[in-house]
Amino acid sequence: MFFDLPNFDAHEAVHFVNDRVSGLRAIIAMHSTHLGPAAGGCRWWTYADDGAALTDALRLSRGMSYKNAMAGLPLGGGKAVLLKDGPRGDATLEAFGDAIESLGGRYVTAEDVGMTDHDMTVIARRTRHVSGLPVSGGAAGGNPGPSTAEGVFLGIRAAVAHKLGRHDLGNVHVALQGLGSVGGALAEKLAVAGARLTLADIDADKARAYAARLGGTAVANSEIMTTAADVFSPNALGAGLTEASIAALDVAIVAGAANNQLATAEDGARLAARGILYAPDYVINAGGIINVAAEYLGEGDAAAVAQAIARIEGRLADIFAEAERSGVPTDAVADAMARRLIGR
Ligand code: NAD
Repeated sequence: MFFDLPNFDAHEAVHFVNDRVSGLRAIIAMHSTHLGPAAGGCRWWTYADDGAALTDALRLSRGMSYKNAMAGLPLGGGKAVLLKDGPRGDATLEAFGDAIESLGGRYVTAEDVGMTDHDMTVIARRTRHVSGLPVSGGAAGGNPGPSTAEGVFLGIRAAVAHKLGRHDLGNVHVALQGLGSVGGALAEKLAVAGARLTLADIDADKARAYAARLGGTAVANSEIMTTAADVFSPNALGAGLTEASIAALDVAIVAGAANNQLATAEDGARLAARGILYAPDYVINAGGIINVAAEYLGEGDAAAVAQAIARIEGRLADIFAEAERSGVPTDAVADAMARRLIGR
């Protein structure tokens, strides 16, 4: 039954980790090692059931294959989810490190939702196949959030140039959901660029604090996806773009960091049919993996990473142009490019 799951997509391997001593329960999904070790972060999250956790791991893992290929990295794609219903302490993270080590370098982890760079140092006690560790000076690596935010900022600029014919973000209205590690840094960059901000987070106090500091407006999280704006920027969790939510959007562009923004394969076409320009999630949000990949592979410093992240803007401009030329939705244009690169 696993092999027929809609999101299985010929995963090379899926590991179910159950550590009786620490209580860790985790899933490590490795979609492809065609271009190199399966690299992708680990998420600490509560799921409705084990099936939802597996679906999340599979979707995220395939997304990493596409993301790493499109970013030009010598890495395959994988992802891990750690089930939050168990205990959370050093022993849990060390057990996760042991599980990674047992894979002999075929899976490399870093932080994703619910994880910190300190957590990576605990995992690193047991395996060297971990990145996103704290760094100093001009070295590459560390918390990927700010690098992801930089790429998303540049991607919003590419989308605004393509769709609105504007080459700066002054007074461009961005409705931004999720003010975590990525969304918070992105909001700051957008404010510096003179964008008008409407902000929401499931943590309403956080949204209000950012709005007060950056000069934007905070709205209830339930209102952000229907806010009339130029850009909707999803930076919370995935699968927010559904048939119903797409029908209610009042924007020209969707461009944000969340992974797996499209709930189903049809939702990219739904956005295109409404004339909304969608920046494929795994192309626009590759800044973080570009940064932690440089750290893991020991290639390049922070300046080289910044140059690689800057290429996201042109890559998206190419995808937008190809979608316009061919009439194929942007997500399908990107998927076809990515699948060619990973030999599928
Ligand atoms: P984070 O945990 O630091 O922040 C998430 C934020 O979203 C928090 O402020 C949280 O309160 C808020 N949130 C959670 N559920 C919400 C909901 N239902 N509605 C509104 N707000 C909600 O996570 P992050 O690292 O900033 O990542 C954000 C998204 O970007 C995730 O989808 C992640 O997979 C994706 N992403 C992150 C990185 C990275 O470098 N951290 C890289 C690529 C993609």
